[in-house]
Amino acid sequence: MSETTTSMNTDFLTRLGVQGTSLGACWGEWVETSEGRELVSVSPTDESEIGRVKMASKDDYGHVMTKAREAFETWRMVPAPQRGEVVRLLAHEFRRHKEDLGALIAWEMGKIRSEGEGEVQEIIDIADFAVGLSRQLYGLTMHSERPGHRMYEQWHPLGVVGVITAFNFPGAVWAWNAMIAAVCGDVILWKPSSKTPLTAVAIQNICNRVMKEAGCPGVFNLVIGAGREVGETLINDRRIPLVSATGSCHMGRRIGEIVAKRLGRSLLELGGNNAIIVTEDADLDMALSGIVFGAVGTAGQRCTSTRRIFLHRSIAASFTDRLKKAYASISIGNPLDDSVLMGPLVDEGAVKDYEDALETIRTQGGEILYGGKRVEGPGFFVEPTLVKADPDMPITKDETFAPILYIFEFDDVDEAIRMQNDVDQGLSSAIFTRDLLAAETFLSHRGSDCGIANVNIGTSGAEIGGAFGGEKDTGGGREAGSDSWKIYMRRQTCTINWTKEVQLAQGVEFDVS
Ligand code: NAD
Repeated sequence: MSETTTSMNTDFLTRLGVQGTSLGACWGEWVETSEGRELVSVSPTDESEIGRVKMASKDDYGHVMTKAREAFETWRMVPAPQRGEVVRLLAHEFRRHKEDLGALIAWEMGKIRSEGEGEVQEIIDIADFAVGLSRQLYGLTMHSERPGHRMYEQWHPLGVVGVITAFNFPGAVWAWNAMIAAVCGDVILWKPSSKTPLTAVAIQNICNRVMKEAGCPGVFNLVIGAGREVGETLINDRRIPLVSATGSCHMGRRIGEIVAKRLGRSLLELGGNNAIIVTEDADLDMALSGIVFGAVGTAGQRCTSTRRIFLHRSIAASFTDRLKKAYASISIGNPLDDSVLMGPLVDEGAVKDYEDALETIRTQGGEILYGGKRVEGPGFFVEPTLVKADPDMPITKDETFAPILYIFEFDDVDEAIRMQNDVDQGLSSAIFTRDLLAAETFLSHRGSDCGIANVNIGTSGAEIGGAFGGEKDTGGGREAGSDSWKIYMRRQTCTINWTKEVQLAQGVEFDVS
C-alpha cells in the first residue's frame, strides 16, 4: 500500500472555498443556517477532517425553495439558446477548476485523481452537450385530421427540479441533471450525499460566481442535510414536479413511492449488478483490462462496476490465473498519489458491508481466490477480491458496493445470458467476443436485459452522449444524452384552427344553433 499523508498540499481546498466551516444552504447566496448541526467531512484515505458544513434545516429548505421559485419565473423567460450561453460560461469555469475539483473529489470520496478529474470532465462534457441542446429542444408537427387546422407539440420548462445524488459520483450526476434541466428552463434544487458535502459546496461556489455575473442567481440551488429530514421534505414537496434520484434500490423504492403518491414524476437511477461474458474466442487481453478496470476501478464503487463475470469453461482456469496476477499488481493507497490504482472505500460502514459480504460468501459456499481482507492502517482500504461462485448463491444476486468480483463458468452463450439476466437489477452488461453471432445474440431482444449493453468494452465508463440508466430494480430512468432532456420538460400539444368554423374531431356533430 502506498504511503498516505495528512501533510499533503491541500491548497485546492482554499482555491475551491471549502476550507473551515461552510454553510449548507444556498440559492446563489449562502443562507446562514437556522440550526447549528454540523456535518464533518472526513477523508476516507487517512480519516482526517477535511472541513465542516452547517446542515440545512427545514426552514432553510423553505427559504431556498422560495428563492428558487422566484428565479424560475425569470429563467423560464430567457430564450433557450441564451440559457445555453450561460451554461457555456459554466463549462468554462469547470474547465478552469478541473484539477482542483478532481483533487477534492479524490480526497473526499476516495476515487483516484485521474478518475476525479475524469468526473469533472464529465461535468464539462454534459455542459457542452447542453449548450448544443439549447438550440435543439424540438417538438414534432403532425397533420391534423381536420381541414384548416395545424397541430404541433411544444416543450415547456417544468419548474423546480429536485436532484438527489449518491456519494460515488458527487459532481457528475448533479451535472447530468442540472446542465440539461437548466437549458430546458428549469431551476435545480440539489440535495447531495452527506458523505461528500464539500464537493457540492465547491460546485455551488463555481455556479454562484457564474450566475451572479450572468445576472441570474437562484437557478442552481443547494440544500445539504440528512436524507431523512431535508431529503424527505424535498420528495414530499408538491412544488417539485420532478425528482431525479440516484442511489441504492432501497432509497429508490422509498422515493418512487412518495413521489408517485403525490402524482409527481420521478427519474430513478439505482443500483446495478453488472456482468461481463467472455466467450472462448474473445481477445483475452482486452477482456482482462476491461474486467479489471470495471471491477477494481473506483474500488468497486461505481453503479456500473463489474460484479460478475461469466467465463467460457474452456478458458476459465487460465483466465482466472491471469486475473489473480493482475489483482496482485494493483497498487492500493492514497488516491492523490499518481502511481495508485485503487483508493479506499468511502467510510467505515462500507468496509463493514464488504466484510459482512465476505462472511456471507463463505457461508454460502463461495471460494475466495484472491483478497478478502481489510488493509490494516488508517483509512478505509480493502483488498480487491475474486470469488469463485455458483450463480445460485443468493449474495451474488445483490449489489455489494465494494471490489468483490464473482466468477462463474458457462458452456454456451444462451446459458450465460440467462444467468446474467437472472438478477433484479438491470444497469450495465458486456460481452467480450469475436463471434458475430454471440455479439448479435447478446444485443438482440432475447439478449441482455440491461439499459446498457456493450461489445468488447467493459461495463463501466459510459459516455454522456447516450441515454444512461437501467431497467428492472435499477429504476428505469434515463439521464444525460440522446433524448433524455424530455423528462425535464412538459409536453404540450397545440391545435390551431385557421378556418371560420369550429369542426369537431372524429366527425362528431353537435349543432347548438
Ligand atoms: P444511498 O441510497 O445511500 O443515498 C443516495 C442519496 O439518497 C443520498 O443523497 C441520500 O441522502 C439520499 N436519500 C436516502 N434516503 C432518502 C430519503 N428517504 N429521501 C430523500 N433522499 C434520501 O446511496 P449511496 O450509498 O450514496 O450510493 C450508492 C448507490 O447508488 C449504489 O447502489 C449505486 O449503484 C447507486 N448509484 C446508481 C447510479 C445510477 O446511475 N444508476 C449512479 C451512482 C450510484
